[in-house]
Amino acid sequence: MSLHDPNCLFCKIIAGQIPSKKVYEDEELFVFHDIHPWAPVHFLMVPKQHIPSMAQLQPEHAGLLGRMMVLAPQLAAQEGCRPYPQGGFRVIANTGDDGGQEVHHLHLHVIGGPRPWLKG
Ligand code: 5GP
Ligand code: ZN
Repeated sequence: MSLHDPNCLFCKIIAGQIPSKKVYEDEELFVFHDIHPWAPVHFLMVPKQHIPSMAQLQPEHAGLLGRMMVLAPQLAAQEGCRPYPQGGFRVIANTGDDGGQEVHHLHLHVIGGPRPWLKG
């Protein structure tokens, strides 16, 4: 699996070739607002490495995915989600056609904020 796919939308966003509203960035991760938010808070967390979906994950990716899960609540709070337990958010990883995945670069949706939400 190559590190970047020149035809991938999220690889282009990570590279800055397509503009996005950045939430967070480090060596391994890029986080940006979803262009069509379902809720007051809706951002996408992506590894900089081009992994098409959760279906391609290997044991070596455990640390990366663990870091994403630990970072999600921190960024949710930073972006306006109220504290637990009244506040909260959903973490969704659509995978494959039956999972409703449209962009084939692994991403976690973090969706939250006061209801009502557009979806869910
Ligand atoms: P999926 O259906 O693959 O889980 O989610 C892809 C998400 O990417 C969708 O929620 C969609 O709104 C978002 N998206 C698609 N194109 C762009 C874009 O160019 N910029 C941003 N920020 N989000 C995008
Ligand atoms: Zn990609």
